[in-house]
Amino acid sequence: MMEDMPAEWGKISSREILAAVKGRMISGNPQTRFTGFSSDSRHIDPGGIFWALKGDRFDGHDFVSRAIEQGALGVVVQEVHPSLKESPRVVVISVADTLRALGDLAAWWRRQHTAKVIAITGSSGKTTTKEMTADILQIGTETLKNQGNHNNLIGLPATLLKLTKAHQRAVLEMGMNRRGEIARLTEIATPDVGIILNVGMAHLEGLGTLEGVAKAKTELMDRLPPKAQMVLNGDDDMLMKHAGQFNKKYITFGLRDNNSIRGVNIENRGSEGMGFDLVFNGDTWPICLSVSGLHNVKNALAAAAIAFCLDVPPEHIVKGLGLFTGVKGRFQTIPLKNHILLVDDTYNANPSALQASLVSAAALVPKGGRFLVGLGDMLELGDTAVSAHREAGSRVAGSGASWLFAMGTHADHIKYGALSAGMPEKHIVIVETHDELIMKISREIKTNDTILLKGSRKMQFEKVVEGIRKTDNQ
Ligand code: ADP
Repeated sequence: MMEDMPAEWGKISSREILAAVKGRMISGNPQTRFTGFSSDSRHIDPGGIFWALKGDRFDGHDFVSRAIEQGALGVVVQEVHPSLKESPRVVVISVADTLRALGDLAAWWRRQHTAKVIAITGSSGKTTTKEMTADILQIGTETLKNQGNHNNLIGLPATLLKLTKAHQRAVLEMGMNRRGEIARLTEIATPDVGIILNVGMAHLEGLGTLEGVAKAKTELMDRLPPKAQMVLNGDDDMLMKHAGQFNKKYITFGLRDNNSIRGVNIENRGSEGMGFDLVFNGDTWPICLSVSGLHNVKNALAAAAIAFCLDVPPEHIVKGLGLFTGVKGRFQTIPLKNHILLVDDTYNANPSALQASLVSAAALVPKGGRFLVGLGDMLELGDTAVSAHREAGSRVAGSGASWLFAMGTHADHIKYGALSAGMPEKHIVIVETHDELIMKISREIKTNDTILLKGSRKMQFEKVVEGIRKTDNQ
């Protein structure tokens, strides 16, 4: 019977989708089979099904007719436009909420497949840990992973819908900016292994306080199926405090002695990367990471912990972590002329990630070299924005940086914090544009300097990285 077979695009019928999403069929043939799914009318598979999602900027319902023109054989909508009733060739399924329905379809799809699902959440390090985990698991098994940071209520279901019979593992990030999202993502993914990397100062706009972040992140623990394995960062006191409230078993990773999976003998090899010994169950394995930063040792321990939960041979862990070459914009070290090192950490920023970055980048500064920091706004901090940017400025001053370049609406607050922490005013430069930042940094840098560039995604500091590289090549 169809229902007992693993779901497979090309074989999935409207009837099955209808049952999975508890929708109402407005028109079309219940036997119609679909070749794929898309919520983006620019990428429609002929023969696929188009999901009309309502976003902040776009409403997928506006693109339904375009999707049909592109060859969609079915559409799922929450508002039925009268013209849809006149297209009998097309399957039209109506649901109360298309986003909810997408999650329901993905949850059903996931249950049709035998792949072990791994869920990774935390305030910082999700994408990096996902990539490291995939590098390990891809040795010897077919592993699905989410693209980029597709980790929300659209990206996670869309990733799950790519599961095929061939996949043995699926590594998924779970992101959120408000309470209830991790709970819902967990319900959709029903993970076999769940991990919380850390609880940090991110998305405070929707969550209020660090306690709020901890509560939101531990929804994963709360909702994980009883048989699933849970992994936590044992060095994160806020996380540990909240995890204790659940009557659930877990294992821990971290640098402290009491963790189940530990990193010891950490060696900072500058821009060459990091070395450390991985300890588990009384055994030790030497690990070579080609990426820098203590935070990446922690991410590697997290990936190793996931692999141990899945009984992956330790030699795969050693090899897979060695294969990892970094993710664009996440603490990538770029050597320039004259022994100058540019640290591209421009992908995103929040106060906890900034702190990790400052510590890791300062550790790369060679003897006699200076540390320069270019910092953009950190967004989504709600009421804490002013204090967080002041704190950021004072942390930059405390990191031993000799120059601070700030850009964005909070540049003055960053400056205030740096000044209060004793940084000389003439070494704090506020700039208005990317070009000005490129020019001022390029003019200031000299032999042996290390420059850290960091800001929230919307600050587009990758343009500054490009500009400085270009100037360096001239
Ligand atoms: P996420 O997917 O959670 O946004 P990423 O792996 O993309 O995290 O890393 C984003 C930034 O967060 C990195 O560039 C780095 O500055 C910081 N970061 C990464 N891992 C950690 C960690 N384990 N702890 C603290 N900060 C981290």
